[in-house]
Amino acid sequence: MDVVSFCADLVGCRSVTPNNDGAIERIAQFLSPLGFETKILVFESPDGSNVVKNLFAKYGNSKERVLGFIGHSDVVPAGEGWDSDPFSAVCEDGFLIGRGVADMKGGIAAFCCAAAQFIRQQFDGTIELFITGDEEVGSSEGIQSLIKWAAENDLIPYDCLIGEPSSSIQLGDRIYLGHRGSLNVTVKSHGKQGHSAYPSNYKNSLSNLCKYIAKISDYQWRHKNKKFPQTNAEVTLLFTDNCATNVVPEWSSANLNIRFGDDYTVKELEAVLRQEAEGFDGLSFDFLLSGEAYYCDNDNLKDILSLSIKEVLGVAPSFSAAGGTSDGRYMIRQCNVIEFGVPDSTIHQKNEKVKIEDLENLEKVYFSFLEKYFA
Ligand SMILES: [Zn+2]
Repeated sequence: MDVVSFCADLVGCRSVTPNNDGAIERIAQFLSPLGFETKILVFESPDGSNVVKNLFAKYGNSKERVLGFIGHSDVVPAGEGWDSDPFSAVCEDGFLIGRGVADMKGGIAAFCCAAAQFIRQQFDGTIELFITGDEEVGSSEGIQSLIKWAAENDLIPYDCLIGEPSSSIQLGDRIYLGHRGSLNVTVKSHGKQGHSAYPSNYKNSLSNLCKYIAKISDYQWRHKNKKFPQTNAEVTLLFTDNCATNVVPEWSSANLNIRFGDDYTVKELEAVLRQEAEGFDGLSFDFLLSGEAYYCDNDNLKDILSLSIKEVLGVAPSFSAAGGTSDGRYMIRQCNVIEFGVPDSTIHQKNEKVKIEDLENLEKVYFSFLEKYFA
């Protein structure tokens, strides 16, 4: 099966996290006849509320060179307003359109097709695929559990390629070597309820919170390590349970999402938020780390991937640590990680699309990468 048909086939599975709708099985069915050992692994959260299907596939038994590929088979919900059925991929004006074509069923299809072609020749090494089912909602029963399982079974690769959409304007213009960390903060403001006409009787939790949020939004974060974009803190939610026009709310809360480079530890970020709260009454904080910043400067991976891109596409890629974090933040604790895939301009949007030419060229880049990696 060619890369476009395989991608379209995967789009037909309504694999909105945590559902899989046969996507994992289809990938296993593609790889098994080629000689890959495939193992479908279902992991469950401790309370049993989250059940996720994943695939581990392996070709070769050499421990000398082991290359991993990470991809997620789940997609975000389609949402409203599509011009065509999001779960029935259509080809139009040179594009393939459907939920997940770019993020990231196209990347999975391209790597599978490249590997199918590559293993026809003799090579000394092992290819492993880690295909997960919950990347879009935190990866706990996906890559985190899969890595744990692989470590227990001595199957951790030396290097890992992630097929997430890393390119920007055109295929090949950007490789991700890392991502910023992500810290979620809930700030609660506690005041005293009252009639808005009687200022001496109340303490307005909401205006207190708004002033604090304004201060944090203007905070000058230091930026020494230019490999990462500048740290930024964004307000993502303001909430209070009052809807009366003449009542001052007793409490209110705000969510902040902080994206940070390795200029900051999580402890330091927490300290900044607390220190900026000095002079404010009744603020309390909850912190939830969703991922540390990471950066992988492995010369071999950078060299052979950029050479492959240059040969196939005639493009010199930039190296970046921008963008949202990926499952690389977990695999980096085990091995080298590099991330390359199609342009990201329509991911998580309606009418998500990818150039058919880009899918075909991505397969060629992955093929060339495999040749150089195992040379
Ligand atoms: Zn993705």
